[in-house]
Formats: sequence, C-alpha cells, structure tokens
Amino acid sequence: MYDVVIIGGGVAGLAAGMYSGRLGMKTLIVGDNLGGTITLTTGIENYPGFKSISGAELAGKLREHAQEYGAELLEDLAIDVRRAGNCFEISTSGKKFLSKCIIFATGTKHRKLEVPGAEKFENQGVHYCALCDGPFYRDKVAAVIGGGDSAAKEALLLATYAKKVYIIYRGEKIRPESINAKRIEGSKKIEVITRANVVEIKGDANVSCAVLDREYKGSRELEVDGLFVAIGSVPLSELAKKLGVETNEKGEIKIDRQAKTNVGGIFAAGDVTDTAFKQAITGAAEGVTAAYSAYRYVNEKEFMC
Ligand code: NDP
Repeated sequence: MYDVVIIGGGVAGLAAGMYSGRLGMKTLIVGDNLGGTITLTTGIENYPGFKSISGAELAGKLREHAQEYGAELLEDLAIDVRRAGNCFEISTSGKKFLSKCIIFATGTKHRKLEVPGAEKFENQGVHYCALCDGPFYRDKVAAVIGGGDSAAKEALLLATYAKKVYIIYRGEKIRPESINAKRIEGSKKIEVITRANVVEIKGDANVSCAVLDREYKGSRELEVDGLFVAIGSVPLSELAKKLGVETNEKGEIKIDRQAKTNVGGIFAAGDVTDTAFKQAITGAAEGVTAAYSAYRYVNEKEFMC
C-alpha cells in the first residue's frame, strides 16, 4: 500500500514525487516516459537557478532528486484506476497497486494535424519533434505549422540544420515569447507565412510539398522536404475522468490553488490541469503543492481498503 501514487513522470510528477518522498510518504511514480515532454526540448532558459539547461539534463536531475528522497519509479503506463474502499487501485500492464491517494501528472499529447497526407507521411516527412527528427533536414527545406511558442522553438532548432524554414500560421501574427520572436526576426533562414492553413501534404516516397489554402508568392503549393506540426496539445485526462474528476471544455483537469480536484484524495499537477500558464516551473510548483495537499489528506483520514 502506497500513501501516494503519482501517475505521470514528467516535471510535475517528478517534483511531486520528490516532495512527497521528502514528507515521508511511501511514494510511487508511474510513467511510460519518465522525464516527460521536457526531454524533447533542447534549451530551457526560464527554469530558475539554471540560465540554460537541456530538457534531458533537467529531467535527469529531477529524477535523481525524487529517488534521493525515496520515491520509487516505475517505467510503465497506468492503464486503469478504480476505487478500492476509500483508497484507489492503479493498474499497469502487469501490476496492480493500492494507494491512499493519487496525483495525476499525466501531461498532454501532441494535437495531430488532420489533413490528407498527414497520417500517410507521419515520420516520413511529417513530424512532431524537431529535436528528434530535425537532423534529417540538414540543408533541406522544412516548415513548421503553428504560431505558439512551441512552433517558434521548433523553427529555431530546425534552422540550425535546414537551409530554409517556413512557419505556416493560420492567424495574423505568431505569438511566441518575445525573446523567441526576436530570434526569429533575426534569422535569415526563417520565413513566416501568416493567414495560411496547410490543407494537404503531397509527395511520392517522401514529402514534396504542402498545399496551402491561399496563394503564397504565386502558388498554393509550397515546396518542402518536411513538415513539423506544433499546433498545441491535448490533455491526457481520461483516467482521471473515470474517477469522476471534473475537466473544463478543453479536457483539462480543474484544480484549486491547493492542486485539489473535485474528488477527495485526487490531486493534479502540470500540463494536464486547467492552469493557463504552462511552463516547467509552474508544473514543478503544482507538483509540490499537490504533494503537500496529498500529505495533509493522508494524515487527516482513516483508511479502509
Ligand atoms: P499553443 O496552444 O500556445 O499554440 C498552438 C498553435 O497552433 C496556435 O498558434 C494555434 O493557432 C495553432 N493551431 C491549433 N490548432 C491548429 C490547427 N488545427 N491547424 C493549424 N494551427 C492550429 O501551443 P504551444 O505548444 O505552442 O504551447 C503550449 C503551452 O506550452 C503554452 O502555454 C506555452 O507557453 C508553453 N510552452 C512553453 C515553452 C517554454 O519553454 N517556455 C516552450 C513551448 C511551449 P491559433 O493561435 O489561431 O489558435
């Protein structure tokens, strides 16, 4: 029996595990990708204490810190959760665990581009991670779809390999953080195409062009070797919903300032929550808050499981 099982091993989950371990709770972190999304980011420049650190290094440090305080880590996917008395049972593919409470730190998955060709060329010209697949586009032409900070960061990273990078955005003006906006303006390789949607991806064995819904420089067909999709993310809140946890219209778990959900004994932290400002540091802070709320919950209650 665990005091707390944390589902999700990204920044929020690892920070929660570090803190609940430190508070003396028997803690298990279950995640199919320990380290989480941050491991797919090259340079993090806004995590206090580190002027610049790679995502993989930050995740490694958080993991080490959690283990230092006794949190157990299991690299596996939680596939089911249910009530067991006033405790919870968490199942992975091969194991079941009982816990007095749960912290959901399940994060998000990429929103997929749903146009003809996107699925056919996935991983063969259509990608969701420039850090993973950007090196294939050395001296080639790549495009990023999206106008948020992720799109900007993907484009900046791609520009270190590719000879040309387009950002294709459906709105009037892309909205990266101002430091990244300046870097894009200063890049000779990056060209921003606004008020345009990709409506089809064409090619034979490999991608050859993105079809736009308007003409750009005299053609609707933009020649590209690869497309990187950065159009936001979808929260992974299905397991929480099974336990009656409330979500907002985007599917994000609603939490209060103590990282409590509407269900007693269930807390949430990080990108899966309805917090508007989503950063590694806000996820870590929510994780720690959730751990403290879990600690109070566990110490105030009698358990019959
Ligand atoms: P965002 O939700 O901020 O941006 C998604 C972008 O994709 C928007 O420009 C949106 O357009 C566009 N879009 C959405 N759906 C479609 C579609 N179907 N077709 C075409 N375009 C579409 O997501 P991000 O991943 O950029 O950021 C998520 C969060 O993570 C933010 O809170 C951000 O601040 C944070 N972040 C932090 C980083 C950091 O290191 N500090 C790095 C990256 C992200 P529209 O604007 O028209 O809706």
